[in-house]
Order: sequence, then structure tokens, then C-alpha cells
Amino acid sequence: MSNRILVVEDEPRIARLVCDNLEAEGYRTIHAADGPTGLREARTGGIGLILLDVMLPEMDGFEVCKALRKEGVRTPVLFLTARDLPHDRVEGLMAGGDDYLVKPFHLDELLARVHAMLRRAGWADAPAEGRIGIGGGWVDLLTHDAQGVDGVKETLPVKEFGILKLLIEARGAIVSRNDILDHVWGGEADPTPRTVDNFVVRLRRRFEVDPSEPRHLVTVRGIGYRLK
Ligand code: CA
Repeated sequence: MSNRILVVEDEPRIARLVCDNLEAEGYRTIHAADGPTGLREARTGGIGLILLDVMLPEMDGFEVCKALRKEGVRTPVLFLTARDLPHDRVEGLMAGGDDYLVKPFHLDELLARVHAMLRRAGWADAPAEGRIGIGGGWVDLLTHDAQGVDGVKETLPVKEFGILKLLIEARGAIVSRNDILDHVWGGEADPTPRTVDNFVVRLRRRFEVDPSEPRHLVTVRGIGYRLK
């Protein structure tokens, strides 16, 4: 996995702060100050992670990400967004983004997210088309399409996809309900751990041969879930 990070950010002060700190951590950085330049740099390959500001001149971060995913570029994207609205999170997920950080962010949190995203071996190891087998079906991490045990192919709803993606990335490790709430629901009002359970029930109906006796989307009592 490349340790080169593309920073697409139009505010020079933030760009410099982020790049300097990433380089101090041993990463190499490339800076782009607008959407089209970011897109061009991202296409060149050899980049391990893209930090993508949402509000950018000429072409916003969502458009850049959408264009990359459409071209089959799977480099993980961490959106830096000034707005913390659920709508933005959903739009970011739909655009093919992988995580979010809301401005103003703490530098420590940014660095922790960057480490974590680069560590997830799943990014690099997934097959080119992004298709991962689950129980009696599969999900495509690139297109969000899935096929369940009934053989029906459809695009997964955003939240179901988000949960599944977290479980896949954990590679068999336990993912807590709180982690799922943080990553998939973010700042949205009023989700409860029970909400997560309801979405997992839906996923089981898709992928488990016997949803009442799940063999793949397994409950870890009192903690969360893991994917076998
Ligand atoms: Ca900006």
C-alpha cells in the first residue's frame, strides 16, 4: 500500500497544516488546490489515500469522487467537510467516499483516521471489480450492487451498504454497535443500538440461507456483530 496521500484542499492554511503533519508522520503528500487538479492527480495512481475537501473551486469533492469511482479508481477517500449534515454524509457515501471528517477537526483525529484507513488491508486486496461473497450472495464495494440468496440483484440502500462495508473491512473482527452508529449514522438524530439491529435483520434476510440461524452475519452478544 502506497504511503502517498493526495490532499485536495483549496484553503492554503489548512492544506499546509495537513501536509506538514502528514509528512512529519512519514507520509508523502501531493497537494491539489481545486477539483480538476485533484482528479488529474488521483488518476495518476500510486496514491494510498485521498483527503478530499467537499467545497472546492470548479468541481466539488463529491463530483471528484464520483468521477473517480466511475472510472474504476478505488483509492480510499476521506472527505473533509465543513458541514455536518446527515444529507452530506449520505451524499458522500453515494459518491463512493469511505469516511468523513468534519471541519474543524483535531489533527490527532485526522492522523488516526489516516492510519486506520491505510491499515485496512481490504482496500488493497479486494478483487478489481470489488465483489465480495457473503453467505449465499455477494456485494460489490464499488457499485454498491448486491445479490442475495434469492438471486435478485439490486443496489443496496445506503445504511445497509455502510454496515456491510464496515463488517467486511473488519475482516472477521467484532464491530460494535456504537462503531456502526458512528460510521454509518454519524451526526444524525436519535438512532439507537436497536436501529442497527433492525438493519442487520434486513441484511440477514438478503444474505443468509436461514436468517433466523445466521452463519455469516453473526451477533456477538452485548457487543455487536462480526462477519464470518
Ligand atoms: Ca474548501
